[in-house]
Amino acid sequence: MKYQWKMLPLTLLLMSGLLAGCGAGKTGEAEASGKETANAEASDEEDTVSAAAAPATITFSEEQLHKGNLILVSKDYAYDFDANSDMDLVRIVDAQSFSYPVEKEEYQLSAKLIPQLDAMIRDCNEAMGTDYTSVSSAYRSKEYQQGVWDEYEELYGENYVKSYVAVPGFSEHHTGLALDLGIIYSDGSPGTFSESENAEWMAKNSYRYGFVRRYAEDKVEITGISNEAWHFRYVGQPHAAYMYEKNLCLEEYLEYLREHTSPENPLVYTAGPQTYSVFFTPEKEIVEPEGNYTVSGDNARGYVVTGVVQ
Ligand SMILES: [Zn+2]
Repeated sequence: MKYQWKMLPLTLLLMSGLLAGCGAGKTGEAEASGKETANAEASDEEDTVSAAAAPATITFSEEQLHKGNLILVSKDYAYDFDANSDMDLVRIVDAQSFSYPVEKEEYQLSAKLIPQLDAMIRDCNEAMGTDYTSVSSAYRSKEYQQGVWDEYEELYGENYVKSYVAVPGFSEHHTGLALDLGIIYSDGSPGTFSESENAEWMAKNSYRYGFVRRYAEDKVEITGISNEAWHFRYVGQPHAAYMYEKNLCLEEYLEYLREHTSPENPLVYTAGPQTYSVFFTPEKEIVEPEGNYTVSGDNARGYVVTGVVQ
């Protein structure tokens, strides 16, 4: 879809997902690559004699609160650009393992989700018997969102822009973990993703690849974003599978973890071949979990620790 901002009618504007900061646009500067997940730092444990009596602890930094696969970015929670200055952005066309259409070659996403995105698109195309699935929007810089905001404010006024355009800094597209899917036919013409069989397939299967359909019709009152069949957010496993099975949006899932889990009482859940142990903690220092684990902030109140059960 080509975007000529000044000519877009309201309906098309809404369909293009401006409320969530969706739609095609400029991308920002690539940041230096860094770690793909916020890892906990083990505390120094020098006293080997009493190590058995004093279990190792891990401490979480303030920065970690705003990093990771599960950060919530919404109208209430701004994206923390400083905490994520080491984001691992790559151009999709450089990183993709096979050729599928990307609306603009400068589009970038977090490198860690590209293999999952490739697999999801490949399997969708195979199921459909077509090769139309495309990426129509990806990482969005704050400057891009500001440009959209300024232009629409000038065109339609302050009230309009406040209702329909995501405030710069509050779009999930800033995370590099969100993208919009589209349809581009082999002759280069665009199709309508939300009315396609691809949209249906993606809604049912994206969780297998660690993605969730982020803005559903029945969650509008919680997310504050209208139904968007094309917008997908990477959260990884087992979170995507659990959210899909229980029909929870990210806001609800994080709330569930906060209310029902702790280091002593994790959510134990099997997704695919692997069983996971997941808990939320508001504490900045906890006893180190056993085995392999990753940590993500929720961008609000605490940390989600995801362990692999041996
Ligand atoms: Zn979007």
